[in-house]
Amino acid sequence: MRYSQLFGKTSRQVPKDETAVNAKLLLRGGFVDKLMAGSYSLMPLGLRVVKKIEQIIREEMNATGAQEILMPLLHPKSIWNETGRWETAREVMYQFKKGDREYALSFTHEEILLDLVRKHVQTYHEFPVKLYHFSTKFRNEPRAKSGVLRGREFLMKDLYSVHTSQEDLDKYYEEVADAYITVFERIGLKALKVEAAGGVFTKEHTHEFQVLSEAGEDEIIYCPGGDFAQNTEIATVKEGKQCDLGHGPLLKVKAIEVGNIFRFGTVYSEKMNVMFADRGGTRKPAFLGSYGIGLTRAMGAIVEIYHDERGIIWPAAVSPFDAHLVHVEDSGTEPWVKEAYDKLTKGGVEVLWDDRQVSAGEKFADCDLIGIPVRLVVSKKVGEGKVEWKERTSDKTTIVDLATAVKKLSS
Ligand code: ATP
Ligand code: MG
Repeated sequence: MRYSQLFGKTSRQVPKDETAVNAKLLLRGGFVDKLMAGSYSLMPLGLRVVKKIEQIIREEMNATGAQEILMPLLHPKSIWNETGRWETAREVMYQFKKGDREYALSFTHEEILLDLVRKHVQTYHEFPVKLYHFSTKFRNEPRAKSGVLRGREFLMKDLYSVHTSQEDLDKYYEEVADAYITVFERIGLKALKVEAAGGVFTKEHTHEFQVLSEAGEDEIIYCPGGDFAQNTEIATVKEGKQCDLGHGPLLKVKAIEVGNIFRFGTVYSEKMNVMFADRGGTRKPAFLGSYGIGLTRAMGAIVEIYHDERGIIWPAAVSPFDAHLVHVEDSGTEPWVKEAYDKLTKGGVEVLWDDRQVSAGEKFADCDLIGIPVRLVVSKKVGEGKVEWKERTSDKTTIVDLATAVKKLSS
C-alpha cells in the first residue's frame, strides 16, 4: 500500500476532548475517527488491526468446534420480553419505537441465539450447539471516556454454546477459557482469568479476562504466582494477604477486561422454552453458555500497553502491516524503493510504503507513531539492492540484502 493513497493520515494534533492514551494515539495515527463520545469509525489502518485480531479469534473458536454465523442487530421487543430483559436491561439497551412497533439495537445475543436453537435443533444427539459471530453491540454507556475501550457502539465476538447437561457445559466452558488465553497470547496480551460477578447478566459468578493496565476501569486482586485472581467487586480477601501457596502477598491493580465468559444454565432456556428430547423422549431445558471478547477494546488495550512517547508499538501478529518502507532521497532511489516494494509484496509481505515527498525526519516520526514493528529504509547510503532494517522496539539499525529482508519478514 502506498501511503500517499491511504485514506486517513497521521496528525500532530492531540485531540482536545480525548484523555485516553489509546484514543489519542489511534486518532493521531489515522487508525480511527471519532464521530461522538463512544462512537468511532475504523479507518483502513484500524480496520486492518481489528481484522487481524478477528482472524486469530476465528481460528481459536473454530478449533473448539464452534461455527461462525451472523445474527441481526435489530430486534423486536417481543424476543426480549420472553426473558424479561426488555425491562431488566432497559438501562443498557437502546430501545425505540417506529410506528406502533418497538425495537432494540442489540447489546448482546442470548435471546436471538436461543430462538435459533429452538427452531433448528430438537433432540439430544444434535447437541452441543456452538455458534459465534463478530458483530456490533450497542450499549448505553453513561461514561464513554476511555476511547475505544468503552464504546457506545463496539465490535464483539460472542460465542454461545447450548448443552444437554451442566457437566457438558462446564467442560466446554473450560475449553473456551483455555482458548481465550491462547487468543490473548497470540495478540500480545497477557490476560489473567479472574473470578467476577455477572452484572446485569447472571447471578452466577463468571470469569473475566483482565489485562493489567492503569488505563483499566476494573480493579482486581491477584496472586503474582498465578493461582488466584478476583475482581474487587466480589473479592473475598484483602490485598497484602499472603497467598495460600506461598507466592507472596496478594496485589491490587487496575485492569482492562478484554473478555468475559458466563454460564447461564437453564434460566433463559426455561423462559424461552428451549427444550431437547433426551434418550427416553422426555423434554428438558437446555444449558446455555455465553462467551465474549471485545475486538475494538482489545485493540485499545494493546495500544495502552504497547506504546512510548513517540507512538504505538504493535505486536507483529496484529500490526496493520509487516513492514514500513521508506526512501529518504527524492531523486535516484525511486527505482530502488519500487523494486524493494515489489519484491517484498511478491514475497507475501504486507508493506506500507511511504512514497510521499516529505523529509526523512517526518517519515521517521510517522513510522514511530504508526508503530509497524519493522522499518526498512532505502537510500543512496544504504546502496542498491539493500535496505536498512530497524525494529520499532530498538534504535539499532542493520543493513541487510533485500532478499534477506523478504525472507525474514515472510517467514
Ligand atoms: P464492562 O464491565 O467493561 O462494562 P461488560 O462486563 O458489560 O463490560 P460483557 O458483556 O462481558 O461486558 O462483554 C464482553 C466483552 O465485550 C468485554 O469483556 C469487553 O471486552 C467488551 N466490551 C464490553 N463493553 C464494551 C464497551 N462499551 N466498549 C468496548 N468493548 C466492550
Ligand atoms: Mg463483562
